Amino acid sequence: MNPSLIIVSNRLPVSVKKTDGVLEFFPSIGGLATGLSSYATDKRNKWIGWPGIASEDVTEKEKQLIATELLKYNCYPVFLTHKQLEDFYNGYSNSILWPLFHHTPIASTAHKQQAAYWKAYRKVNAAFADAVLALSTKGNRIWVHDYQLLLLPALLRQERPNDKIGFFLHIPFPAAEVFSELAEGPALLAGMLGADLVCFHTNGYVNNFLGACQHYDIGIIGKKEIALQQRVVRVTDFPMGIDYDRWVRATKSRAVKAELAKWKRKYRGQKVILTVDRLDPTKGLVERAAAYKEFLVQNPQLRGKVVMSMLAVPSRTDIDEYKRLRNRLETLIEDVNATFGNAYWKPIDYMYRSMPFEQLAALYQRADVAFIVPLRDGMNLVAKEFLAVQQNTSGILVLSKTAGAAEELKDAIVVDPTRRSTLVRGLGKALAMPEQELKDRVSNMQDLLSTSTIHVWAGTFVKSLKKSGQELRTVRVRTLSPVHQRAITASFRAADTRMIFLDYDGVLVPFSDNPAKCKPSKELLTQLKKLASLANLTIVSGRSKADLTEWLGDLPVTLIAEHGAFVRTAGKKRWQTTPTNLGWKQHALRPLEKYAALTPGAFVEEKESALVWHYRKAKTYYAQKYLVALKRALKPIAKTYNLSVQQGNMILEVRPKGIDKGNAVLNLLNSNSEFILAIGDDATDEDMFATLPASAYTIKVGRGRTLARYRAKNTNEVLALIKKLH
Ligand code: UDP
Repeated sequence: MNPSLIIVSNRLPVSVKKTDGVLEFFPSIGGLATGLSSYATDKRNKWIGWPGIASEDVTEKEKQLIATELLKYNCYPVFLTHKQLEDFYNGYSNSILWPLFHHTPIASTAHKQQAAYWKAYRKVNAAFADAVLALSTKGNRIWVHDYQLLLLPALLRQERPNDKIGFFLHIPFPAAEVFSELAEGPALLAGMLGADLVCFHTNGYVNNFLGACQHYDIGIIGKKEIALQQRVVRVTDFPMGIDYDRWVRATKSRAVKAELAKWKRKYRGQKVILTVDRLDPTKGLVERAAAYKEFLVQNPQLRGKVVMSMLAVPSRTDIDEYKRLRNRLETLIEDVNATFGNAYWKPIDYMYRSMPFEQLAALYQRADVAFIVPLRDGMNLVAKEFLAVQQNTSGILVLSKTAGAAEELKDAIVVDPTRRSTLVRGLGKALAMPEQELKDRVSNMQDLLSTSTIHVWAGTFVKSLKKSGQELRTVRVRTLSPVHQRAITASFRAADTRMIFLDYDGVLVPFSDNPAKCKPSKELLTQLKKLASLANLTIVSGRSKADLTEWLGDLPVTLIAEHGAFVRTAGKKRWQTTPTNLGWKQHALRPLEKYAALTPGAFVEEKESALVWHYRKAKTYYAQKYLVALKRALKPIAKTYNLSVQQGNMILEVRPKGIDKGNAVLNLLNSNSEFILAIGDDATDEDMFATLPASAYTIKVGRGRTLARYRAKNTNEVLALIKKLH
């Protein structure tokens, strides 16, 4: 049996509104619900999202009512407050990410609010993560949608290392140089890379995404994949299609025929240039009207014989930028109509509303030219729908090269929306195109649309998600070069919040047979103090509380002793203990002591939470021989008492599972941190590297296999880097 599929999107396919105190449920607009309908109706699956109403606008009882009603559609609500909707949705999602991802400027008013918006964005993503974790079980497949939830895949991955998580971005992914303008860029990439499968509409967006990862030096970039420390993330293009048959069927329906008759009457004797889009800055509606004006200037013979039918669908009407855009557009339209129009002819037929399906399908049929020239668009489904309904009619498409659909619809008249002259020429070419050429072009594009439907899109994604997995790869570790050091320093300086995790032995001080030599030098203490004034600094050590307190106790840093068994937070004097049952110790002690006695130079150290077999001073021959035997003897004990047996630098350490540097770091990790650096040298530090997000800078000191991104030669290199940071 297939595991359940959990779909997560900002909006649920069913929305709620309250009119005169009564709750009403209605389907949300958009192709996603159609594409995923066969999954959404399967009782084993769940769809999690916001139901379209703010939590203050409903009582607790109504919330329960909503949840019960939505359950009929396998939908589960995440309620958001007005403030969250303002800062997370209108704010970070639609005023920061949306414009930047579409290569349009972010309004200065939004820039000023960016920090507050970002905070809300993180909180809402965390709320979605809580909802998904509460509503799903391990082993589910999870499909996360779109730019409002970029952080969600990584939040889920932390809790569900083995679930199959997929992500689809429905808008463009910008070029690396544009993406890197975003202060939160690395965190967003790390969020997306929590998925096993990251998908976009086009190959261009795939390349942009890989380019952004390269820019931040994340993972090893392959062809359509990124190898992270522990996983390989597939990055690929799945262009979204339409429900082709539905649009073809519409052309035969009585309701659509009746609507078509009305449009024919309205636009009698005129060539119809159609534009349909949400009133959004990225859609270039002002530019379309301006190009049409220029077209009328250049083609006086066509005045009175063409009409621009402009359907501008209201969108994000709460955002000032959108209000201003509407004013500009309507002023220009009035100007065009006043300049060229007369009592018998209105050059632009402007409709500011949304249109029911039948009326829209009929309008597509009546149009001679679809003038779909957004400045930038993830895909643009209108272009595809327009082509699908050209069954007995002959309309042609003028399409921006910057719409995702242009990668597939090569037979359209493709134009550059930033150059008005190409738009004007495109209109001329469309209106003059010979009938046969037009039919051939449309038929070619219909062949593609009828096979790459929205159902195929959803099915292919889910199948690929099933196949994608947790491949383990040996990743090439880079030698820490001056270039990398500069990148780390720059990133440190740019961040407002910084976390640094440093192991002690082998990282800050070299190993020594003489424990007195492991004491930190005055110079080291000064450097650490300076660093702690700029970053949240933690020393993550396997050493005892006593050693760390004596050597580092006066520094304003957090101390982790015995690999996480004890934590002393910066500024506090008390150690906190991770509670464990110590009954296992007497059982493990027996073989450890037996083999220490057999191995000259080896000895057992008893820590509060662990037992350590030291063999630094032992003869190599005996150490090798008895280490193998000791490991074998410890195996059943480790299994019975759930212990980890881990080899470090000339030591073998036994301690309860779960007490490791990975968990210790995880408990301290602050999701606010824009910069994370971790440096370690032995196997116990690998847990720390494995836990940290992909955006963290991780450095292994010395030789050996590692999950870290960089390798430093010795403690001197570490000190040199620390000095560069401040
Ligand atoms: N649409 C609609 N009613 C309208 C106008 C458009 O339902 O009055 C639909 C249209 O059929 C299309 C969608 O809105 O499926 C717009 O999708 P597109 O990808 O073109 O642009 P988006 O709005 O997602 O940026």
